[in-house]
Amino acid sequence: MMKFRVFLIKYAEIGIKGKNRFLFEDALVKQMRRALKNVEGDLRVYKQPGRIYAEAAGDCDTDEVTEALNKVFGITAICPILQLPDEGFEHLARETVRYVEEIYGQDCAQTFKVNARRARKNYPKTSQQINEDLGEVILDHFPGMHVDVHKPDILLNIEIRESFINLYSMEIPGPGGMPVGTSGKAMLLLSGGIDSPVAGYMIAKRGCKIDATYFHAPPYTSEWAKQKVIDLAKIVARYSGPINLNIVNFTDIQMYIYEKCPHEELTIIMRRYMMRIAQTLAEKSECLGLITGESIGQVASQTMASMMVTNEVCAMPVYRPCVGLDKQEIVELSEKIGTFETSILPYEDCCTIFVAKHPVTKPTLKHIRRSEVLLSEKIDELVQTALDTVETVWIKAEE
Ligand code: ATP
Ligand code: MG
Repeated sequence: MMKFRVFLIKYAEIGIKGKNRFLFEDALVKQMRRALKNVEGDLRVYKQPGRIYAEAAGDCDTDEVTEALNKVFGITAICPILQLPDEGFEHLARETVRYVEEIYGQDCAQTFKVNARRARKNYPKTSQQINEDLGEVILDHFPGMHVDVHKPDILLNIEIRESFINLYSMEIPGPGGMPVGTSGKAMLLLSGGIDSPVAGYMIAKRGCKIDATYFHAPPYTSEWAKQKVIDLAKIVARYSGPINLNIVNFTDIQMYIYEKCPHEELTIIMRRYMMRIAQTLAEKSECLGLITGESIGQVASQTMASMMVTNEVCAMPVYRPCVGLDKQEIVELSEKIGTFETSILPYEDCCTIFVAKHPVTKPTLKHIRRSEVLLSEKIDELVQTALDTVETVWIKAEE
């Protein structure tokens, strides 16, 4: 197999004109550098008008490079390319034959089309002449190959750039989305479950940075449960970049609600306090919204009535990217992004510990507000203590 040292990065340019285009490209370059930092080959990432490249100083493993770049939002395709000096058409023809032979073999029986484009208009041949002349050279060398200009198996791209020529035919799909850093920052309520890591991934994919908050209830939830959330954050950080993870000690608040409020309302009231605390932390760290893994109807606390009551305490937008997905669809995403195996480790969650046998599925604001009045004596103080004792962990991606 041919060794590639240069990769041409494609990104969707729709809607990124003018100033936004530079912001988009600069954020993409930055995220690519982060993703490639630990990849062998000393890769350099650089911009040229309308193009972004990653170039290895030495040998690199194509699979390793594409795997790393597959975690960079904003990339639509990764193309391993041959970058040639312009030493005349004969040289280009020889290199093209060598390329086709190495990638597809002398016995290749696929259809092809040459697709030449010139950024440098003083190249001695027009694009159409290059297409025809190179096409002929290929037909001469590979008796099994035929031209198909409509639906070729192999699209052989030739780009005449200012100081070199790009030759490529492989386009490996990237993750799409927008580079992290082009939107604002949002606070993910990260539990140890399947849904919330997926939710964080989906919002990061829209270009948002992520902070996270986890509600821990020792000794009811163990150190293992906390470590599991840290591990999940590390996986999400492969895509989103570093995450500031707030670990909130929620035990006293939970116990107090348990003591004072009707047990069937426990989960809803608890979720309202989670939202309130997450929002305060979000404001402190300049987040513009909250993210949860909620999906309509998944459990009692996620009926539309429950979500309306939970949402009522939030002044900032709450993003729920899993809202319209079935559990199976969320599971598939978590498998794709690599969080599933960790999410299903059997450590208890603070929500499941005091869970009522028959939680309300149609709570009303009137009832819930009335129940929360029962907490008035101590709750503010408990919330303040929880906020004052937050433990913050700086989470970096782990391979
Ligand atoms: P998940 O798989 O994300 O845990 P879930 O199906 O278990 O979701 P719930 O436990 O009802 O659903 O939680 C709904 C959402 O509330 C979660 O997706 C998450 O965003 C947030 N959440 C729940 N428990 C916690 C927690 N202990 N710490 C932080 N956020 C939480
Ligand atoms: Mg959960």
